[in-house]
Amino acid sequence: MTDVLIIGSGPAGMTAGIYIKRANLDVQIIEKEYEGTGQMAESSRIDNYPGFYGISGYDLGEKIREHAENLEIEFLEEEAVAFEETKKGFLVILESGKTLEAKTVIYTAGAEHRKLNVPGSDTFENKGISYCASCDGAFYKGKDVVVIGGGNSALDDALLLSETCNKVYLVHRRDKFRGNPGTLEKLEAKENVEIIRNANVQEIKGTKKVETVLLDTGVSLEVQGVFVAVGTIPQTERLKDLIELDENGYIKAGEDGVTSKPGFFVAGDVRTKKLRQIITAAADGANAADSAIHYIIR
Ligand SMILES: Cc1cc2nc3c(=O)[nH]c(=O)nc-3n(C[C@H](O)[C@H](O)[C@H](O)COP(=O)(O)OP(=O)(O)OC[C@H]3O[C@@H](n4cnc5c(N)ncnc54)[C@H](O)[C@@H]3O)c2cc1C
Repeated sequence: MTDVLIIGSGPAGMTAGIYIKRANLDVQIIEKEYEGTGQMAESSRIDNYPGFYGISGYDLGEKIREHAENLEIEFLEEEAVAFEETKKGFLVILESGKTLEAKTVIYTAGAEHRKLNVPGSDTFENKGISYCASCDGAFYKGKDVVVIGGGNSALDDALLLSETCNKVYLVHRRDKFRGNPGTLEKLEAKENVEIIRNANVQEIKGTKKVETVLLDTGVSLEVQGVFVAVGTIPQTERLKDLIELDENGYIKAGEDGVTSKPGFFVAGDVRTKKLRQIITAAADGANAADSAIHYIIR
């Protein structure tokens, strides 16, 4: 019986582990990827994590993992596939068939960006295709970019990018946007923003980096950046019978990581929140750990 089992070794999970270990409790981190450090490993450059200007996501992840390993936190390379409540806590069932029991769980399995799945979308990942305007927008200062999507993320991204980019195309597959009408109005008033409705991306082309985005309307956009904001998929499929999720599948919880199930905490991108970033994931990890510590020693 472990005190705390953490699912996922992204910034939320590793930070939670650091706080739990330093409170002298038993902790194990279950991570399905080999030496995984979460989504940040996909980012070639991180400019908004204090103290590490310009670091690659891979290196930042390694540094956090090294920090956790120095504290002798145990990592287990396994996928957690099911969760059951027991009298004393929770049973975590792993893909190998092994089961682990813990007094508490901190779930930090993150979210995955929905991809475009068109020709070129894999080839140009990190070579002009981004899923995060607040992370990568600054690299496109003075350049032409396209934002794909019709919800709040797409509208917010387009507005943010319009402050620094030369030209921003906003492409939506429908006529009506789902996002905030006020933001849409602001975008419509911007001279460097062009809104293209009822169009889908058909192909992304380039030599080494993105150069052209072809739409199914026959229009071709000459851009250097493609910001994909067509939604994220929180990794909560296995939890829907255990805890309360919102309509998009995120685990309902505030900053303290307390979910609808006592003893089952959440941190990072997988919880309901506004800003999904490394620093907010790390902060969540610290808060959820604090909640778990108080739950155990209460
Ligand atoms: C390309 C890209 C660039 C980004 N750039 C920046 C940036 O510049 N600055 C910034 O602040 N943020 C950036 N982000 C966002 C940032 O990476 C995320 O907000 C952050 O990683 C979320 O951390 P997390 O710990 O909540 O989840 P994640 O990082 O998603 O980690 C979750 C971990 O859980 C593991 N996992 C999932 N399910 C299971 C399971 N069932 N069993 C075991 N393990 C499991 C996953 O393998 C993963 O390692 C970027 C994201 C991407 C994709």
